[in-house]
Amino acid sequence: MAILDEPIKEVLELKNYIDGEWVKSEAKDVLNVINPATQKTMARVPMSTPKEVQQAIRAAKEAFPEWRRTPPLARVRCLFRLRGLLEENFETLSRIQTQEHGKTIDESRGETRRGIEMVEVATGIPSLMMGYNLEDIASGIDEYVVYQPLGVFCHIAPFNFPFMVPLWFSPFALATGNTFIVKPSPRAPISQVKLAELVDEADFPPGVYNVVHGDAGAAAALLESPDIKGVTFVGTTDVGKNIIYKKCGETGKRAIVQGAAKNFLVVMPDANIERTIPALMTSFFGNTGQRCLAGANLLVVGKDDAFYKTLAKAFVEAAARIKIGYGLDESVQMGPIQSADSKKRVLGHIEKGIKEGARLVLDGRKPKIAGDYPDTCFIGPTVFEDVTLDMTIAREEIFGPVAGIMRAASLDEAIKMVNSSRYGNAASVFTSSGRTAREFQYQVEAGNIGINIGIAAPMAFFPFSGMKDSFFGVLHGQGRDAIRFFTESKVVIQRWL
Ligand code: NAD
Repeated sequence: MAILDEPIKEVLELKNYIDGEWVKSEAKDVLNVINPATQKTMARVPMSTPKEVQQAIRAAKEAFPEWRRTPPLARVRCLFRLRGLLEENFETLSRIQTQEHGKTIDESRGETRRGIEMVEVATGIPSLMMGYNLEDIASGIDEYVVYQPLGVFCHIAPFNFPFMVPLWFSPFALATGNTFIVKPSPRAPISQVKLAELVDEADFPPGVYNVVHGDAGAAAALLESPDIKGVTFVGTTDVGKNIIYKKCGETGKRAIVQGAAKNFLVVMPDANIERTIPALMTSFFGNTGQRCLAGANLLVVGKDDAFYKTLAKAFVEAAARIKIGYGLDESVQMGPIQSADSKKRVLGHIEKGIKEGARLVLDGRKPKIAGDYPDTCFIGPTVFEDVTLDMTIAREEIFGPVAGIMRAASLDEAIKMVNSSRYGNAASVFTSSGRTAREFQYQVEAGNIGINIGIAAPMAFFPFSGMKDSFFGVLHGQGRDAIRFFTESKVVIQRWL
C-alpha cells in the first residue's frame, strides 16, 4: 500500500507563540521529536526558560482586559474563523498527528474531528454563559447572577492526543472571555504549533492565545505564577495528583486534573459476541492502547466455560489479525507505540505478567511489521489469560496494546472487581439486558460508562468525567461544566431608585 505524503519533510526548529509572534527560545535544552514509525527526527523542541514562560503569562495577562470587553459574539467569530481553517487543513493536521504520534491516519482523522467539535460547541457560548435573575427579592429590589471570566488559564498537555486534548479546554476558555497558554507535550508538540498557526490566521488579538514549549520546568513556571488563575492538566496520575493538583491548592488556582486509567470491559453471557468483538478490538488496541479510555482488563462473566472459550478465542484471533505498520499506510490498523521508552515500559509489564503467572496467549513482542521500518517502537497486540486482580498487569496502567482476560462468576462479583481499582476513568458492559446495564451504570465507580460501547468518549457538549485516581477537581472542561469552570458567578442586588 502506498504511504500518504508526509506534511513534515524537514526538521523543524519549533518556536513559542507569544503575543501573536513566533519567538525563538534561548533555551539550551532542546529535545528531538522523533517519528516513532520511521525513527526520523521531525523537529527540535526547546525547553523554554522560566523567563520565556513569564513573557507568555504577561502577554496573556495584558490581553485579558480587552478580550474580556469584546462582545461574546465577536469573540466566537474568531472561533468560527478557526473552525473554517481547521476544516481546510483537516488532512494536514491529521497526517501530522500520525507522523509525530504514530497512530493510524484514520485514528488521527477521528482525533481532528473531535477537536473541531470542541470549537463548534464553544461557539454556542453567547447563549450558554447567560446568567439568571429574580425580580422583587424585596420590595423594588432585584437580584441577578452574571458569569465573568477570570483571566489567564493554561493547559499542560499529554502526548497521546497531541491535537485534540488542548482543545478540550481552550475554545471554552477563550469564548468565555479568558486568555490562554498551552504547554504541549514535548514528545508530540508539532500538532499544537500547526494549530497555533491557524489561530494566528484566524486573527485572534495578540496575547489571547499563546504556546510555550517545555516540560516539567515550564509547567512549574506556570504553576508558580499568581497571574495564572486556573490550570487544566491531562497526564499521569503521579504528576497530576502529587504535583499539579497539590500546587494549585497551595496557590489558590482552579484546577481540572485528568489522570491515568485502568479500564475494565465486562462481557455478560447474554452479549452478542459477533458485535462485541469489533468494539473490543478498537477499545484495547486502538491508538496502540495509548488512550485513557482504552480497555485494559477484559472481564468475562458467568460460569459457562463454553461461552468463555468462544469469546476468548474470538478475541485472540481478531487481535492476531491486526495489521501493524506506519499509520500513513491507509491499510494499517495499528501504528507503533509513541516512543522507545514507552515500548521498554510496556515490555517490562509483559515480563512481569509472565513472572506473576498470567498465561501469555498472544505475544506481541516481535510483531510482523508491514513495510520496511525499524522495530524500535513497534509492539503487537498482546493478550494474557488467567489474569487475577492481585497481578501488577491487572492493577497498573500499561498504556500499550496489552489485554488481560479475567473471569467473574456473577455481575455482582464483576462490579466488585471493577470497583477494586484505584482508577475510575471508564468502564463498559456488553449485555442485551437493560436491567444489567442499569445496575452496572448505577454501581460502577467510573466517570465514563459504556453500554455496548468499547470507548466511552463523551461528546463536546458533555463533560469528560473521571473518578478516584483518574480525576481531581470538581468541574470538567467541556459542556456546561466548562462555563462554570472558566467563569466566576457574580451576584448583584439592585434597588431601583
Ligand atoms: P505525563 O504526566 O508524563 O505528562 C503530561 C504533561 O505533564 C506533559 O506536558 C509534561 O511535560 C508535564 N509534566 C511531566 N512531568 C511534570 C512535572 N514533574 N511537573 C509538571 N509537569 C510535568 O503524561 P503523558 O505520558 O504525556 O500522558 C499519558 C497519560 O495521560 C496516561 O496516564 C493517560 O492515561 C493520561 N491521560 C488521561 C486522560 C484523561 O482524560 N483522564 C486523557 C489522556 C491521557
